[in-house]
Amino acid sequence: MNRQYRRYDCVGIGVGPANLSLASLLHSRPEITNLFVEKRTTFGWHDGQQLPDTKLQVSIFKDLVSMADPTSRFSFLSYLREKGRIYHFVNAQFDLAPRQEFRNYLEWACQLNENVVFGENVLAVDFDDHFAIRTDRRTITANNISIGVGHQPWTPPIARKHLGQSQFHVSEYVDRSTGLAGKRVCVVGGGQSGAEAFLDLISRPENERPRRLSWVSRRRNFYPIDDSPFTNDLYMPGFSDYFVTLPPETREAVNREHLLTSDGISQETLRAIYQRIYVRRFVEGAVDQVALFPNREVVGIEWGAGCWELKLANSNHPDVLGQVDVDVVVWATGQRPTPLSFLESIAHRLERAGDEYRIDDDFAVRWDGPSDRSIFLQNAALQQRGLADKNLSLVAWRSQRIIDRLAGIRTDKPQPSFLEWSAKQSRNDGEVA
Ligand SMILES: Cc1cc2nc3c(=O)[nH]c(=O)nc-3n(C[C@H](O)[C@H](O)[C@H](O)COP(=O)(O)OP(=O)(O)OC[C@H]3O[C@@H](n4cnc5c(N)ncnc54)[C@H](O)[C@@H]3O)c2cc1C
Repeated sequence: MNRQYRRYDCVGIGVGPANLSLASLLHSRPEITNLFVEKRTTFGWHDGQQLPDTKLQVSIFKDLVSMADPTSRFSFLSYLREKGRIYHFVNAQFDLAPRQEFRNYLEWACQLNENVVFGENVLAVDFDDHFAIRTDRRTITANNISIGVGHQPWTPPIARKHLGQSQFHVSEYVDRSTGLAGKRVCVVGGGQSGAEAFLDLISRPENERPRRLSWVSRRRNFYPIDDSPFTNDLYMPGFSDYFVTLPPETREAVNREHLLTSDGISQETLRAIYQRIYVRRFVEGAVDQVALFPNREVVGIEWGAGCWELKLANSNHPDVLGQVDVDVVVWATGQRPTPLSFLESIAHRLERAGDEYRIDDDFAVRWDGPSDRSIFLQNAALQQRGLADKNLSLVAWRSQRIIDRLAGIRTDKPQPSFLEWSAKQSRNDGEVA
């Protein structure tokens, strides 16, 4: 049972990995009173995409806490040990942890923490000396708030009016992708989510498999994620702190050039898809079952002769419009930041940075309110903090920064990169000036 305070030091809005990391690290700090509210009635983490054999895309050390406090009882190792499976996990020799196991770990961290509550939707946040957080059940007061409401599914405008049983976003895949035997199905989107849906469909037993399966991507090919060592330097605290010092145009270019370090497809998934296609086509002789359309954008969709007609534009051949006829479309077209409409009454007091709220070094929004009243913003500053902002890599470090601000200290231990990102001049003797 969580203890009720008249006014909390920190109230978290939304319980995904970002705020759950903060809640977990705060658990051992009872002097900072806190409460985290989540609108879902029970815990979930991308449950509509928990397919067999899907993996976490980062090292398991990048759990809720370990990068900031490896001794925390909320670590993944602690979860394994408490569940009696720590040796088994090691023996299994996973390259990357099963996604479902990570989800179960997150749920366990919620259950362990009496300061995390479910079934409360935050409707509005007002400010008058302190924050008043109005949920659909009550009003909670706090000196600081941490917003971690994540991203929500996004489909292109041409798709929106058609969404339903025969066209749906991949976030609903588990529930909606039944009864597809003998149908023509098209997956739109060349990232990891699209790849996983495609792999699932092509892997089904013959009596459950679609008759024809197409895969469309705007990218020029089905590209892999870059998970190599130097690339992972982009997902270190030092790079995040460097990135924020760059001019906005440079930051935008860096994010654009490195998109595949976050949004590409895992090598394992690509290999499995290619091998499955090989077997279907050459071993089983199903020559017409699969069609791959890279470098295509869906520019129109209409209900035609008993099927959906997808119009495809190819940037190499702008004068030719392709068409695919299908029964079902899976839109794997990504996620966009969840709108912060509950901030409406104070939004005019918050500084903007392009499409985002401007945050300071501690992830607090710059505003005209008192300096001891902060609005921390998690996973909503991609343009200011780079691609790592929406990834799990920095959740523990970012949470620690927030806690340090609440405690009025700075505990960051520098973790210098092998790479010299800044514009320091190299002297002749090789030393950096
Ligand atoms: C399928 C999938 C797999 C991913 N796998 C990885 C991976 O392996 N590695 C990696 O680094 N990244 C991964 N990501 C990206 C990212 O790490 C996750 O999306 C992560 O869940 C983001 O965490 P979050 O806490 O910011 O947001 P979310 O997980 O989206 O959580 C936000 C929560 O806020 C709640 N909420 C929203 N509005 C309100 C409100 N008004 N009141 C109360 N609660 C509210 C929502 O219900 C939700 O539970 C993945 C993304 C997807 C889509």
